[in-house]
Amino acid sequence: MRRFQGQYNPDGQSKRREARERVGNKCIRCQSPSVPGRILTTHHFDGNKANDSWWNLLPLCQVCHLQVQGKVDPEQPFFLEHSQWLKPYVAGFYAKKANPPLHITPLVKEKAGPRLIYRIGMGVRPADQNWKRQLNRLIEENKPAINKILLDFGVPLLNENDQPISLETATKTP
Ligand SMILES: [Zn+2]
Repeated sequence: MRRFQGQYNPDGQSKRREARERVGNKCIRCQSPSVPGRILTTHHFDGNKANDSWWNLLPLCQVCHLQVQGKVDPEQPFFLEHSQWLKPYVAGFYAKKANPPLHITPLVKEKAGPRLIYRIGMGVRPADQNWKRQLNRLIEENKPAINKILLDFGVPLLNENDQPISLETATKTP
């Protein structure tokens, strides 16, 4: 059994609640809602209770929590394919812990070939103009939060002059 480390963060409780809400308040392994005997909990994947990164908070029911905690240690090599539900979290773990560290560089000065930086957009069907306006409004209103999620995933963000924007600027409400 792994040893657990770290202290819960003061805002850890809300981070864990958000992680459970993101997945619809269900166990990501067995899909059970929170019911007696399978109360929904949050497992700190790397064993560090102070690490509230999105990839470290696994919403699991009590039963799955005990099994996963006992069997899966992301620090240990795993020779089988990970289950589908666990893959995004494992990817997040490796992206953050890669050795040598992964560094993502935006290619802004490439002269040849297609442009390698682009805006992220959403497509709607031509008839869905109201839906398009609603999406655009939601994107605009939630820009700081969306930028924070993208930066958390290691997506480099650029301003109009192709200069990287920091977490501080990207998450400031205009
Ligand atoms: Zn479960």
